[in-house]
Amino acid sequence: MPETKSQSRLAAETRIAQGLHYSDPETGAVMPPIHPATTFARDREHELVNPAHSYTRADNPTYALAEAMIAELELAEQALLFSSGMAAATAVFRALKHGDHVVVPEVMYWGLRHWLNAFEHDWGLQVSRFDARQPDSLAQAIRAGETRIVWIETPCNPLWDVTDIRAAAELAHAAGAQLAVDSTVATPVHTQPLALGADIVMHSATKSLNGHSDVLAGALACRQRNALWQRIVRQRGEDGAIPSAFDAWLLQRGLRTLFVRVREASANAARIASHFEGHPKVAQVLYPGLPSSAGYEIACAQMQGGFGAMLSLCVHGDRRTAIAVAGRCNVFTRATSLGGVESLVEHRASIEGEDSPVPGNLLRFSIGIERVDDLIADIEQALQAVELTDT
Ligand code: PLP
Repeated sequence: MPETKSQSRLAAETRIAQGLHYSDPETGAVMPPIHPATTFARDREHELVNPAHSYTRADNPTYALAEAMIAELELAEQALLFSSGMAAATAVFRALKHGDHVVVPEVMYWGLRHWLNAFEHDWGLQVSRFDARQPDSLAQAIRAGETRIVWIETPCNPLWDVTDIRAAAELAHAAGAQLAVDSTVATPVHTQPLALGADIVMHSATKSLNGHSDVLAGALACRQRNALWQRIVRQRGEDGAIPSAFDAWLLQRGLRTLFVRVREASANAARIASHFEGHPKVAQVLYPGLPSSAGYEIACAQMQGGFGAMLSLCVHGDRRTAIAVAGRCNVFTRATSLGGVESLVEHRASIEGEDSPVPGNLLRFSIGIERVDDLIADIEQALQAVELTDT
């Protein structure tokens, strides 16, 4: 088992790069083995050889290091891996009871927005939505004594609005609710929601935690193993929404370079955002690290060392103009997703479908670790190549 956080005063950068100073006690190997086993042996008395492991639907020893690393990064009591970010997010809501009340943002990661729309109807969950751009909206949506979960995403897809985690935690707790934070975009490099009062942090580990666009995984991390958390753990064991051992192994490898990847990508995104602010062909740059952004002060207070690698550009023009600009990009790959070392561009409204609240002239960029001048030049030439019309 890896050492725990309490055994070390070393910086997180050091601990994570070293996989919590992992070495295999039997072989001395500096990388953990992959355990593809789905089942674990019992002795002649029918006791498990290792009581921690019985059957992989509930748990697999290969998860241990990745989960310990995520727990350390998030200052969490425990972290759990899931088969995807969506499996992690929906595990929180599925641990609630019929008729329970939750509060979620109006505009958020669209996959979860869609799922909640259906779940609200099919499961009888009561869902209130708040406008992340209106400071009083969250307080108004919470029902004292009734709300069970306040769910926020910060910065929030794809407009990158920032929600004050500390204030949201206070509001949630005063009403007897718990705060869960989708921190996929902020990453633990920039924000640690549990330290700001959140109860659960969720990640699509498919994104920056792994960082190489080759693993689908999710994670939850908790401040305390309370009753809700115990239900989530039990449910994961029963449902089997878990990654493969190989994916868990790839994830611990990706995590080792998290700090350098995220810092580089965030610095690139900040450069790109300031370059295109005020650009004659760009109507608006959405990025929480711009001083002109509405969430800038809160972002400065709760994000350290950068503002993330996601930004959106609203071009002068309409949906067709935006699609044409994306079509002219040569360095950016046109694909959905985020958090990889390679830069991606997508026309978000097309990806989200007909009921999308996203403006048609918006392009969402996931910024990677390439040379930033190449990325800026690529967007510049794409904007120049397309005739833009004022909306
Ligand atoms: N949360 C955010 C902010 C995301 O961007 C995504 C995926 O794009 C998810 C959750 C869902 O994660 P996954 O695709 O791993 O299920």
